Amino acid sequence: MSDKSIDELHWMMGMLHTINVGLVVVDLEYRIKVWNEFMENRSGMKAFHVRDHLLFELCREVPERWFKNKVKSVSKIGNQSFTIWEQNPYLFKFKNYRPITGAVEYMYQNTTFIPLSSPNGEIQHVGIIVYDVTDMAVTKLELETSNSSLELLSRTDRLTQLNNRGYWEECLETEFKRVKRTKQPASMIIFDIDHFKKVNDTYGHMAGDEVIRQTSDALRQSIRETDVPGRYGGEEFVLILINTKPKDAFILAERLRKKIEALTVTFEGKAIKYTVSLGIAEATPAMQDHKEWLQYADQALYTSKESGRNKTSTHKPTAEEKTVVRKA
Ligand code: GH3
Ligand code: MG
Ligand code: MG
Repeated sequence: MSDKSIDELHWMMGMLHTINVGLVVVDLEYRIKVWNEFMENRSGMKAFHVRDHLLFELCREVPERWFKNKVKSVSKIGNQSFTIWEQNPYLFKFKNYRPITGAVEYMYQNTTFIPLSSPNGEIQHVGIIVYDVTDMAVTKLELETSNSSLELLSRTDRLTQLNNRGYWEECLETEFKRVKRTKQPASMIIFDIDHFKKVNDTYGHMAGDEVIRQTSDALRQSIRETDVPGRYGGEEFVLILINTKPKDAFILAERLRKKIEALTVTFEGKAIKYTVSLGIAEATPAMQDHKEWLQYADQALYTSKESGRNKTSTHKPTAEEKTVVRKA
């Protein structure tokens, strides 16, 4: 080797030692042969201390079986192999000391396993490059979190925290398709506050808002986990009841109606009493779409309003509605 190439090798070694990625070389018995400064600083173990030790004995967090398989396959096949933090947050458990991403405890890592051939061409060592990807991982995780809270915001009604109309209608469509497919029962309740305009006119809009809020609380308290409630409009609420026949929906509706009738909303020292009217419709496979289902529930609500309010009515399907009409 010429002086020049010895110099180059020396420089190269210096750079590799101090480079800001982890470099590890193991032999096919998993003994550590190279351990650069990055690894020394993060692990607190000096190269002379770890050399010739079994890697997974010093780094207990490294899964032994997985690591052996990785080294075997990389050395046998002669190809590189990558792992990314999304599959496994880290290979080596290093504390994260970065100021910006200090909120996470451990360093997120990507790794590359590289087959290293000896001068005779045989692969007897495997190199591992460890990249610190904490910043990138944290940014991505934060983005995912804010995206999911955005999604939640976009489907939630601000005043009541119920599903808003758009999202609830999506759920309705999904549920209707399920009914068509499975022929299982499902019912819907739609209800509307009686003479709500009077509440606003008498006590003010803020009091009206409080009435809407407490109505949504009463609704939430009356339902099961699988029911899908929503605020359909101003003082109109809706509820999808999965696997429920109209007679059971009626029991729930009446319980809710009585609960609201008994409720007194207090706003700025004033006691507000009010009632609601409700309509029920069952989904049948004969219906064209989810809008038809909603329309029948709305008609039943109208019947309750027409016949004196503070009532529950159930839509009675005609013979035609009960029959599945098959189109040619
Ligand atoms: P009915 O018994 O026939 O349902 O009579 P109503 O007065 O309740 O019905 P109407 O639909 O005529 O009035 C609804 C009122 O609800 C009109 C609207 O100003 C009010 N409203 C709609 N959204 C809100 C809201 O978010 N807050 C408040 N305070 N009022 C609202
Ligand atoms: Mg209304
Ligand atoms: Mg009303």
